[in-house]
Amino acid sequence: MRSTAVSHAVTPANPPAAEFIPYGRQSISDADIQAVVDVLRSPFLTQGPLGERFEEAIAGYCGAQYGVAVNSATSALHIACLALGVGPGEQVWTTPVTFVASANCALYCGAAIDFVDIDPATGNIDPQALHARLRQAQSQGSLPRAVIAVHLAGLSCEMKTLHRLCRDFGVALIEDASHAIGARYDGAPVGSCRYSDITVFSFHPVKIITTGEGGMALTNKPELAKKMTLLRSHHITRDAADMTHEPDGPWYYQQTGLGFNYRMTDIQAALGLSQHSRIDEFVARRNVLARRYHRELAALPLTLPCIAGDSEQSRSALHLYVVRLQDDDSGRHRRVFEALRARGIGVNLHYIPVHLQPYFRQMGFAPGDFPHAERYYRQAISLPLYPGLTEELQDRVIAALAEVLI
Ligand SMILES: *Cc1c(COP(=O)(O)O)cnc(C)c1O
Repeated sequence: MRSTAVSHAVTPANPPAAEFIPYGRQSISDADIQAVVDVLRSPFLTQGPLGERFEEAIAGYCGAQYGVAVNSATSALHIACLALGVGPGEQVWTTPVTFVASANCALYCGAAIDFVDIDPATGNIDPQALHARLRQAQSQGSLPRAVIAVHLAGLSCEMKTLHRLCRDFGVALIEDASHAIGARYDGAPVGSCRYSDITVFSFHPVKIITTGEGGMALTNKPELAKKMTLLRSHHITRDAADMTHEPDGPWYYQQTGLGFNYRMTDIQAALGLSQHSRIDEFVARRNVLARRYHRELAALPLTLPCIAGDSEQSRSALHLYVVRLQDDDSGRHRRVFEALRARGIGVNLHYIPVHLQPYFRQMGFAPGDFPHAERYYRQAISLPLYPGLTEELQDRVIAALAEVLI
């Protein structure tokens, strides 16, 4: 694309704009494209055989019993909450450092949302803060129905501790693992649901693997899998055992509750199945690039992220590589961010604390409620990280960062 002839034609004073480097981007192979084309030529564009095959592939990969494929992680979080009994008069707690969807799912169910501050070392929900809040809530008779733990940047939360706490206080536990397919915790894949009721993945294109839009809820509990399967498709059953009376005939189905159309298409499932075979390759590449950032940025005035080991025991999926600047009031964080964007580096910020969004402020949340999350927000910058990032492009990110931090 950038031929020598073109670069010679440009005067040195006006060099060609360097390629913009996004913070994340999907990796689509010829096999992925062929898989989608094959579905388009098949009898079923949706509700064919591929949805179930994709569910089995992801559940199998994670070592979970059941997978329920849906059209987004947002939908998966919604039906996960409903299946666990979240409703009006209930509360759900999550971390403020997450995408808004982790909180909105509670509101869809008519429940109230509250937050527990992060551990500044990892950016994940702080188990000690959770413990203190659970004790307080118990004494006031206001325990939440569910806690949603988010594996920020692909690094698993301390699930053993969270699981013990939630079990002891009788609270359900959902893992929002939108960033974390391919990660490992305590010797098992994230998604095994060994320490939770339900794990949710996102297959949005910036995440680890993609179906365009899409998500999945995994669980080991047959009653939760069944409930989520009903909720995904209008709460309609064709199983005579679940009907109020004998079927009227072979055409018969019953709607036995209120559900949604949250189905994943076979077009999406085909892409997901094809992408699923590359989860390990993607996560390995992300780990290599993250370790390269670690080496090359070590001398800069930055706090580098906690990226765990890279072993069967413990591994981050490295969805994001978030560096943190020194916290000050000088506006430097914003200037560094803007200077990187001006150099064609597509840095981003994950996340604006959810409780500071105007919609949540209307519910009574205010600055100062979750100081660690707010401090994180004043410091964090996500650097580009995706499987197709070449060392050459990464070197541009590193050089730009060194330049703007001087
Ligand atoms: C992306 C994301 C979601 C929402 O995923 P969709 O598939 O886009 O609905 C939810 N939670 C977290 C933490 C995310 O990063």
